[in-house]
Amino acid sequence: MAIITNHMPTEELQALDAAHHMHPFSNGDELSAKGARVITRAKGVTLTDSEGVELLDAMAGLWCVNIGYGRDELADVAARQMRELPYYNTFFQTTHVPVIALSQRLAELAPGDLNHVFYAGSGSEANDTNIRMVRTYWAEKGKPTKSIIISRKNAYHGSSVGSGSLGGMTPMHAQGGLPIPDIHHINQPNWWAEGGDMSPEEFGLARARELEEAINELGEDRVAAFIAEPIQGAGGVIVPPETYWPEIQRICDKYEILLIADEVICGFGRTGNWFGSQTLNIRPHIMTIAKGLSSGYAPIGGSIVCDEVAEVINACEFNHGYTYSGHPVAAAVALENLRILDEEKIVEKGAAETAPYLKEKWEALTDHPLVGEAKIVGFMGSIALTPDKAARAKFASDPGTVGYICRERCFANKLVMRHVGDRMIISPPLVISKSEIDTLIDRAHQSLDECYARIKDEGLLKAAS
Ligand SMILES: *Cc1c(COP(=O)(O)O)cnc(C)c1O
Repeated sequence: MAIITNHMPTEELQALDAAHHMHPFSNGDELSAKGARVITRAKGVTLTDSEGVELLDAMAGLWCVNIGYGRDELADVAARQMRELPYYNTFFQTTHVPVIALSQRLAELAPGDLNHVFYAGSGSEANDTNIRMVRTYWAEKGKPTKSIIISRKNAYHGSSVGSGSLGGMTPMHAQGGLPIPDIHHINQPNWWAEGGDMSPEEFGLARARELEEAINELGEDRVAAFIAEPIQGAGGVIVPPETYWPEIQRICDKYEILLIADEVICGFGRTGNWFGSQTLNIRPHIMTIAKGLSSGYAPIGGSIVCDEVAEVINACEFNHGYTYSGHPVAAAVALENLRILDEEKIVEKGAAETAPYLKEKWEALTDHPLVGEAKIVGFMGSIALTPDKAARAKFASDPGTVGYICRERCFANKLVMRHVGDRMIISPPLVISKSEIDTLIDRAHQSLDECYARIKDEGLLKAAS
């Protein structure tokens, strides 16, 4: 058997990694000089690295390990499925049992008439599907000019050419010729950073009305869809003001444009309900899913599609699909993950018991001198680091300088917390216990203290003028 052992010394593993492995979203040379951290095992919310250090993973990997690490049931289901039918495709009028069972279950869980699933291997692929699906929908309805998809600056919808174009990340658009044509970006509802003198409520309305302005400017006959994460994740866990989503929903209804909710992070319990659309009270025509769908144990994503859109797409030949659309092993793993989330009441219990506990502790971090706002919905939270809370000031240093220092202090204190610019974010497994939450908060506090001392020392505790 080809077993990859963990017994090689860490430096040798790091040298091989530096020589042959190209990392996503990393400066390769900087990383090689430092040496990548080698993660060897995980259980519950705890990662173990090659040196035996145990880290509390407050990010659930990349927002995905909702049921926590180390669930044997998923491994058993995968092994069984590999023996029975490791692979067959779903092209050309064939199907298999795991994909049928998963589709039925997703139709049951998804709100409203979201009853049909088109599979992909990831969230990026699923959003690429969505681009082609909504444009095809309007073309089939005799409105081929409706091809523009409106999205938002600082949104994240994936890293492929299509999904990266939907996303609103400037550094991504700067590389490789993005965005593709007919994608339009409006501003994000990030009150802390961009709200100026407006109240959060006024600002939420103003930012939502940018959608209406964009539709009027571009022409209703040109706009196919609006896509958004119910709560922006990779953009820094930006919780929109309460006025934002009702106004977006009103505008989508009024102009009959399709609403795509990118639920890749918000889905499968992260916001306290099965889907973020339920928490935010929105009615999408399509939901993008991935990440928590399999809790990251197998790569799988997809689009859950409403009756009306599915009917139109099913009536034509949609020339689209991936070799691994509805992969049987990934589908079986996802189904088992959903069973565990459901039967162990992880979503309900998390929402009723641990999420309120986490919220109270997380929001109390605003007592720290470095912390401006603290936002959290369910199990996704963020804090804004600031040199001056009252002014909601940014640091004079390059964005991300202080955030990076804080992140390094977190690692040193055995906590995986990510930074987006100078915002710190968490998205722990939904199974995190109250005592693990205490540990998370203690380590976060300690790291904030150390970060504060260090930036004071280095003269970085200065507001941008
Ligand atoms: C991660 C993410 C994606 C992309 O999913 P991949 O599986 O990495 O391709 C899309 N949308 C959102 C909201 C995400 O967080």
